[in-house]
Amino acid sequence: MLIDEQRARGSGMTSERTRTRMIERLRQQGIRDERVLAAMQTIPRHVFVDDALAHRAYEDDALPIGHGQTISSPYIVARMLQSMRHERPLERVLEVGTGCGYQAAVLTQVAREVFSVERISQLLDKVRARIWQLRIHNLRLAHADGYLGLAEVAPFDGIVVAAAAPAVPPRLIEQLAPGGRLVIPVGTGERQQLHVITRHAQGAGFDEQVLEPVRFVPLLERLA
Ligand code: SAH
Repeated sequence: MLIDEQRARGSGMTSERTRTRMIERLRQQGIRDERVLAAMQTIPRHVFVDDALAHRAYEDDALPIGHGQTISSPYIVARMLQSMRHERPLERVLEVGTGCGYQAAVLTQVAREVFSVERISQLLDKVRARIWQLRIHNLRLAHADGYLGLAEVAPFDGIVVAAAAPAVPPRLIEQLAPGGRLVIPVGTGERQQLHVITRHAQGAGFDEQVLEPVRFVPLLERLA
């Protein structure tokens, strides 16, 4: 995929080399999925934060993106996508909580077709401009409540949720394809854990695995 690097040129903090250092850090932090690492090397993260914060875009931090929401840290994006991919080729995937669109953009490099839903419509307007600028063509955005998933285009090989739910929403589990994986932070406040739910390739069963403590904004019901 062709990525427009124009905004990146001329600024040392936002250059390809800064991104390479971010990738080296992710490797040190235990990220092993080469496909995910290559995707994060390709997508310019600074394009997804306001200009005033662009110089901090490659630090391992969550940053504010307006409307009380945050862009997830590079490590957590890599961790979630690595867990969802599980070294499989991905056809159709769903992201819940588009936010600034960074994780969705990374997803477009590891899956053939990406759907992302967000409850705050003003955030989506900004994302549309960014993905147009980057010439990304395999991402569909929807102003929708992620608790419900996106039944009209289900099932998905992978679903990744970028906000914490008190419990795993049943509609998301229903929308997993056989062998599909749902990665979701579960819990409230400071007590949250990253969960991975895998639908068995045959039969109706599921496995659930708890990875590590995390800190996300809450998954809220209904549209903003
Ligand atoms: N993936 C984003 C991080 C987004 S933060 C990134 O790469 O930056 C989480 C987002 O989830 C917020 O934008 C919030 O508005 C959204 N959100 C919260 N509850 C939601 C729901 N029920 N449906 C859709 N989006 C939701």
